[in-house]
Parts: sequence; structure tokens; C-alpha cells
Amino acid sequence: MDNEQLKKRMNELTWKFPHAYSKADSGEQQSITDFSEDYKTFLNQTKTEREFVRYAVELCEKNGYKPFSAGSQMKPGDRMYFINRDKALILTTIGKRSLCDGLRMTVSHIDSPRLDLKPFPLFEKNDIAYLKTHYYGGIRKYQWVTVPLALHGIVAKKDGSTVEIRIGEEPADPLLYITDLLPHLGAEQNEKKLKDGIKGEELNAIAATTPFDPESEEKNLIKLKFLDLINQKYNITEKDFLTAELTLVPAYPARDVGLDRALVGAYGQDDRVCAYATLRAELETNVPEHTTVTVFADKEEIGSYGNTGMNSDFTLHFIEDLCRSCGADINTALRNTYALSTDVGAAYDPNYPSVFDEQNSCHINKGCVLTKYTGARGKSGSNDASAETLAKVTGIFDEADILWQVGEIGAVDAGGGGTVALFVAHADINVVDLGVPILSMHSPYELASKADLYNLFKAVKAFYK
Ligand code: MN
Ligand code: MN
Repeated sequence: MDNEQLKKRMNELTWKFPHAYSKADSGEQQSITDFSEDYKTFLNQTKTEREFVRYAVELCEKNGYKPFSAGSQMKPGDRMYFINRDKALILTTIGKRSLCDGLRMTVSHIDSPRLDLKPFPLFEKNDIAYLKTHYYGGIRKYQWVTVPLALHGIVAKKDGSTVEIRIGEEPADPLLYITDLLPHLGAEQNEKKLKDGIKGEELNAIAATTPFDPESEEKNLIKLKFLDLINQKYNITEKDFLTAELTLVPAYPARDVGLDRALVGAYGQDDRVCAYATLRAELETNVPEHTTVTVFADKEEIGSYGNTGMNSDFTLHFIEDLCRSCGADINTALRNTYALSTDVGAAYDPNYPSVFDEQNSCHINKGCVLTKYTGARGKSGSNDASAETLAKVTGIFDEADILWQVGEIGAVDAGGGGTVALFVAHADINVVDLGVPILSMHSPYELASKADLYNLFKAVKAFYK
């Protein structure tokens, strides 16, 4: 057999995922860049689930979406939004076909790992006022010290009003900050295991360092100084912290990473990278074949519990209301629905090869990543999508020239993780995970590829068409 024949046979029989830029002409490259510029602006404005909901609703209202009202008349092309307690959101565009033919659904999550303030957070020690924190989601605690932090959240008042707090995002704003030891005195700390290097109770952020009245001998005057300043700005007192949701998030803005500017570095790309791609795809879907349901859920990082998370029935209740409004049988609609659980994947990291199976990992710049199963050990806690579901969605992607790849979270028994796919599957829906590979996932500054983000957007657009 000559070499040409061998190569031909090789091409016919073997498969290799292409590089995302191998098929991107200059027009496509410009689209990738433009999309990522909008994405970075979005990231800087939506660091909490509440901020995402407000941003998305504003955008939807500009694009003709109306508040969802169960029982109202609905026709193809109608666009509606449903807000769940300001922390989760569902968008829908009514399709040409009956709901009994199934919906096209995506679910991303809009919460990210962070440092929540404890309910009674303020204390003073050795002339420094601190805020106590309780971390939210899976973090490696040592990564969150010596990082510029911003305070975000709301205080809920008895009269039903809320006060929104946001300190540390404007260049002129002060920051909050958690210290670490200097290397000169770090010898004992260096001997600890990495996971014990920084303890949860050591994650106390500096809030103020000067007294309210330098001449007075009273105690806790630095704490009073902080309270006085925050009272002047927001009209709240220490008691108001008890009925608040306040959180510390990295104050870094989103930036390009690498001299070729192919990556975006930012806080909270798990899972706002997928939330942004699905939001834009939903907005660009006008009169689809199947009705779209685009869900932005809260609480994924702590197990999806709570009435704004996917373990709650809020999405099911929405689909019930939608089916009733359109005169469709809900069970038939659910059974015929295809859903993408859009969440990030663990990108292969050449610095740490031992925890990955290279061939079954997703790689940055190779497109969006399809994950058949997540979970741990023997796929425990996984949805494990069917071959038919995989063939159905990859058929749609291939027809639309989407660059997609497959990826497991890591090597067998190296660890594990989960997504909301199992909660979607629980409602008798066909579902598979699709997302974007992330480097340094759950760290204060995560990396994602602009081309992978753009391919996810195009994939969801094709799925909704
Ligand atoms: Mn996630
Ligand atoms: Mn996560």
C-alpha cells in the first residue's frame, strides 16, 4: 500500500478533534473577538446571581420580552421572562410546534464560589476591624488570601425594601483584603498540608484600621468607625447585617490572557461563561421550531438546594404553567424535551497531567465540550446521557459546523464533580452536559478560551433554531 492510500484510509477511519482556529477565517476570528469583548463587560457587571438577573432582565426588556403570566394567550415568537426571587431566571420564546413535540431547554447556573459574610460578621482585634466569612462552594482556601476583594449584596429591611451594597469595583473604591503570612515567618505554615494551610476561621477580611474617635479610651472604636462609614453610605446598622446577603468576590476586572489574547481571565466564569452564551443564543432566537426554555439557576455550587436551585420544582412549575397556557399535556412535553445542562468542564492542564486522562479531557481552544457523565468513582451521582441523546445533539452541532469536543472531569478515581443535569433528568427530560473548558476552575481568577465560548454560543443557537 502506498503512503497516499494509507493516509486516505487513516482519514476515513480515525478521529481527531480539530483546533478551534483551524476552521476560523478572518470573519469568524473577528466574531470571536467581538463576542468576547461584550462578554468581558458582562462579567464585570454580574458577579452575583442577583446582579445577573437584573442585567439579563434589562437586556430582555429591550429585546421585547414581557413578564410571564400563566394562562395568558401565547403565540409563536412570543418572548417572556420569569424571575424567581431575584436569584434565578427563566426565559422562553414560543415555537411554531406544539409543546407536546418537546421543548429545547438549557440550564446554566449563575452562582459562583465566593466568601459570604457570616450573619454577625463584624469584630475588632488588636486595633483592626474584621469581617468574618463563611465560604460558599468548593474553594481552595489558600487561593483567597492576598486577593483584592469587593463587597456585594443586599440588606433586606423590615418594610420590604432592600439596600444594595457594592464596594470595591470602581477604581477609586476601597477594597477588602485577607492577609497571609510573610515567607520569613512561614516556616511552620509551610509544613502544613496544602488544604490546612489556611483555615476557614482564618478567612477574616480587613474592614477598617483607624478609630472613630482617636482621643477616646472606649473599646471597639475601629469597629464603630466601619459602622459609621457604612451607615453614612447605606443607612444601615450592625443589626441589619443579620438580614443581609453579603459576599466578598475578587475585585479584579476581566482581562485578556496570553499575548495572542485568546483567553479571558476573570472571576466566576464557572458558570457565567455558559450563562452568557445561552442568554445571547436565546436573545437571537426569534420564531423557533420548538419552544425554548432558558434557565439561569442559583445554588449549584452548594448542591442546587434551596428554592432558587435546580433541586427545587420552580422550573417544573414554570413548564407546567407554560403547558397549561398552550393547552399541551405536560408529561408528553417533558418526555419529548431535549435539554443541555450548560456548565463548565475541567480543561486539561499540562502543568498537572497526573489527574487527567489526556485523550478523554477537554482542551482549551478545541471548542465547546460535551460531557456524557460527571460524578465520581463509578459514575456515582451522574446523569450519564444516552447514546441516542448524544447523537441527537451532536447531529445538530455538526450540521451547523460547531467545533465541539468530549471531556470527562478528570482521570478515573482522581476526584469528581457534578452538574444540574441529574435534576433535569429527574423531570423525565433528555439531557446532556455541554460547556466550556476552564483552567483554574473555582479559583479567584479562572481562564476560558474565547473561541470555546463562541462555539458554545453557536451550538446553543443551532440547538434552539
Ligand atoms: Mn459549574
Ligand atoms: Mn463549579
